[in-house]
Amino acid sequence: MSVLIFIDHADGHIKKSSHEAISYGTKLATQLNTTAEGILLGTVQDDLSSLGKCGVTKIHQLANEQLNNLDAQIYTQVLAEAIQTIKADICIFSHNALGKAIAPRLSAKLKAGLVAGAVALPDTSNGFVVKKSVFSGKAFAYAKINTAIKIISLNPNAFHVTEVGGTATIEALSIAVPSSNIKLIKTDKVTGEVPLSEAETVVSGGRGLKGPENWGLIEDLAHALGAATACSRPVADAHWRPHHEHVGQTGLAIAPNLYIAIGISGAIQHLAGVNRSKVIVVINKDAEAPFFKAADYGIVGDLFEIVPKLTAAVKKLKGMV
Ligand SMILES: Cc1cc2nc3c(=O)[nH]c(=O)nc-3n(C[C@H](O)[C@H](O)[C@H](O)COP(=O)(O)OP(=O)(O)OC[C@H]3O[C@@H](n4cnc5c(N)ncnc54)[C@H](O)[C@@H]3O)c2cc1C
Repeated sequence: MSVLIFIDHADGHIKKSSHEAISYGTKLATQLNTTAEGILLGTVQDDLSSLGKCGVTKIHQLANEQLNNLDAQIYTQVLAEAIQTIKADICIFSHNALGKAIAPRLSAKLKAGLVAGAVALPDTSNGFVVKKSVFSGKAFAYAKINTAIKIISLNPNAFHVTEVGGTATIEALSIAVPSSNIKLIKTDKVTGEVPLSEAETVVSGGRGLKGPENWGLIEDLAHALGAATACSRPVADAHWRPHHEHVGQTGLAIAPNLYIAIGISGAIQHLAGVNRSKVIVVINKDAEAPFFKAADYGIVGDLFEIVPKLTAAVKKLKGMV
């Protein structure tokens, strides 16, 4: 058995979720007494060999700039060929937008069993059983993969990045890249200090903020913490905030280390997008708000009094004033 980890990148940099996938793949390889290798499509500014510190011994790179923009069909074709060339048995993806676009296509193309949204290392004591999160994190399922090639996509924040030391060798892959039927015309990047999907800390506001004119409270706290901003769906529906900030069942699902929910009731549809956060802090004037049940820390009170004090305290702590 050999393990191949798909390394995802954006704007020339390797994503944090890929470090998690590498740590997961490396641990799995140790469990199976084999080696873990990485595969990267496209080009990056980061030093790829330094990924060896997370445990990969080799990284296969297809350094074709066409691959810096995702075309799921081309990626699937190229990866299917690479997996067969490298003779990998287990392929690990991050369960992010890119992993969700490619892993199922690859699974169908290679007739390989896929477990999407894994949260733990497979149990290999009797077959190959992977624990995954289901029903928006409300339950777990255990899925057995019986196919020769196995694909796993790992939930963000489900596995710690561990550094074992070492350097990876880089090996150029020579696979012909078919021309794409998709032409990228323009990229509109979300402006803001921190991209929401990658953010370690998120400050999020709900209808309790009363209107867009009060969003400075959220932005000031986010700025002080170096956090991204998010919102509940009614806030985006009312155009107080752009839709790309809406988190939840019908919005973005995020898994930051710290999620601060301000003036948000904690409806099940909202929780579905944030309940994988490591630590949840809730600020709400209603002590009965459902969000408190999911909170690690809660403050019952008026956000218009609490948030400015919190921001001032963070700024003082960080020497920003
Ligand atoms: C099919 C479907 C999909 C949905 N998908 C999503 C989704 O993806 N994301 C999502 O967010 N919602 C989603 N919803 C909507 C969801 O059910 C809730 O209606 C929504 O999350 C409520 O948003 P809110 O908490 O901002 O507003 P509210 O429910 O109005 O809550 C406002 C909260 O602010 C508190 N508050 C008010 N004033 C203050 C103050 N001064 N200080 C402190 N606290 C205060 C209140 O006590 C209250 O708890 C979906 C609904 C459906 C039916």
